[in-house]
Amino acid sequence: MGAERAAKIGIIGAGSVGATIAYAAMIRGVARQISLFDISRTKVNAEVLDLNHGMLFVPPGTVEGSDDIEVLHGADVVVMTAGAKQKPGQTRMDLATANAAICAKLLPDVVRVAPDALLLLVTNPVDVMTQVALKLTGLPWERVIGSGTVLDSSRFRYLLARHCGVAVQNVHAYIAGEHGDSEIPLWSSASIGSIPLSQWSVNEHGRLTAADKEQIVHNVKDAAYQVIQGKGATNYAIGLAVTNILEALLFDERRVLPLSGLLHGYRGLEDVCLSLPRIVGRKGIEPPLPIPMTVDEESGLRESAERIRQMVRGLGY
Ligand code: NAD
Repeated sequence: MGAERAAKIGIIGAGSVGATIAYAAMIRGVARQISLFDISRTKVNAEVLDLNHGMLFVPPGTVEGSDDIEVLHGADVVVMTAGAKQKPGQTRMDLATANAAICAKLLPDVVRVAPDALLLLVTNPVDVMTQVALKLTGLPWERVIGSGTVLDSSRFRYLLARHCGVAVQNVHAYIAGEHGDSEIPLWSSASIGSIPLSQWSVNEHGRLTAADKEQIVHNVKDAAYQVIQGKGATNYAIGLAVTNILEALLFDERRVLPLSGLLHGYRGLEDVCLSLPRIVGRKGIEPPLPIPMTVDEESGLRESAERIRQMVRGLGY
């Protein structure tokens, strides 16, 4: 397991999400070099200046930025965060069209300047963008990765942990499918400290009623809307989630994460990108783990896959 402290991370987009990923990755010392690229020179220069002013307080490294994509040269991982956010009145499909056009403009150049990089997509709708990126770049499927439901699963675990009064690290539960409205909680495989969640009944730590479960799922799905309504963007949790993914990739950690990637016959699903728990390491993602599912969970996964497929088709990819 070779730790790659010498690695270079490239980040496309120095907006709320891109800059916060850089900040979190810098604090944790994930890479020796972090390079930001943004179409706005003023914005990227200001973010890089601010980050560099904190260099005294973090593990040694370099942060640089430019409006020239060459800044990503030789990166080990390139994180794509550039793109429009959903505005009032805009449909997810409008967003997909605008962001697919940005991917089409940038990603061929990314492959040119960083041919060996793993590509990590964060731009929404992330599953659709992951599939579009696969087509645009022709890279092997294991190197084209969507941040998927890592953030949603972290929200899910946090809410379960709070409800039951246990540490979030001892809750094991995943959200699968689309990073979006059709995502599905995998209740049947969820556990706390090795106790299946369905059997959880511990003095002073409560139990989960059907209404509790419904409320928790509602809160997971509504989370981004709540944060965006209050502050215009989500950035801290996604910044930490992506940093966690970057560590798993660059340090070859073999962590199990619900990342988006191409399916090849998983439960009969082909040719669609969505999230399922997978082992992650320096070469990228592995095929999803054979996680047990109820009939309802599996049919939810199929519906989610169909939604993503329709969006990808609507874009002409
Ligand atoms: P933002 O508007 O703050 O930043 C976007 C940045 O992209 C801007 O700085 C802009 O200048 C840059 N940009 C736009 N077009 C570009 C181009 N052609 N080349 C280079 N740079 C370009 O937005 P944000 O809040 O940082 O969100 C970015 C994306 O991340 C959105 O699509 C959002 O929906 C998504 N997001 C995903 C998740 C997730 O879990 N997958 C979570 C949060 C946000």
